[in-house]
Amino acid sequence: MTPQRLPRRVFLLRTVASGGLLAAASASQAQTQVEETDEAAVALGYKRDTSKVDAKKYATHQPDQKCKNCQFWQGSVTDATGGCAMFGRKHIAANGWCLAYKKIG
Ligand code: SF4
Repeated sequence: MTPQRLPRRVFLLRTVASGGLLAAASASQAQTQVEETDEAAVALGYKRDTSKVDAKKYATHQPDQKCKNCQFWQGSVTDATGGCAMFGRKHIAANGWCLAYKKIG
């Protein structure tokens, strides 16, 4: 998906994230998980399991796209959960996915 075709909300979230305005998760708050029903998660189509993404609704999604290989992932490749610039201080699943996915590199 080209930047011109991203929903405005996703574009703004990416802009904020790349600007470094979202703080890194603190140790005490890092355990809080993003729920798929959270407002931001719904807006971004976040799923904890990339295989559960609605392929009809998100036609750009590919099965190999996972949080742990997204440029916004804030963890190691072996972590089950980690931070994400899109979700502030809450953690997301390593095998998750959302509309803001951007492959590393
Ligand atoms: S796909 Fe990327 S932007 Fe979306 S929740 Fe996962 S790490 Fe964050």
